[in-house]
Amino acid sequence: MSDDAETLFERIIAGEIPADVVYSDDTTFAFRDIRPQARVHVLVVPKKRYRNVAELAAADPQLLADVAKTAEKVAELEGIKESGYRVVFNTDSDAGQTVFHVHAHVLGGEQLGLFGR
Ligand code: IMP
Repeated sequence: MSDDAETLFERIIAGEIPADVVYSDDTTFAFRDIRPQARVHVLVVPKKRYRNVAELAAADPQLLADVAKTAEKVAELEGIKESGYRVVFNTDSDAGQTVFHVHAHVLGGEQLGLFGR
């Protein structure tokens, strides 16, 4: 996916596309994945768009830290902080990245396999 996908998360953040919002603050936004791959599957995005985690890290390390903190906050809100959870940034095509607005997948609520569900 390219241009449409690039704007999808911005439209969700703006409230133009409905989403099941889990958490929001000044710099980050978290909502449930529409096709969950685990009992808990939440996406955490910076409100400002960068293409992937490497670009985010290079341009704004504090914002990457904000995303990491929000991932932990989501785990707390979802009751999986103690049992453990996975945070994944798919990056480009071999990893299956389809939306080019950097997002952390927060997965948990069940025993996860090493590289997947
Ligand atoms: P990626 O494959 O790492 O880029 O992840 C994109 C994720 O966005 C996928 O897990 C999709 O299921 C999810 N997704 C796509 N459209 C929507 C939507 O409208 N709402 C919530 N999640 C979405």
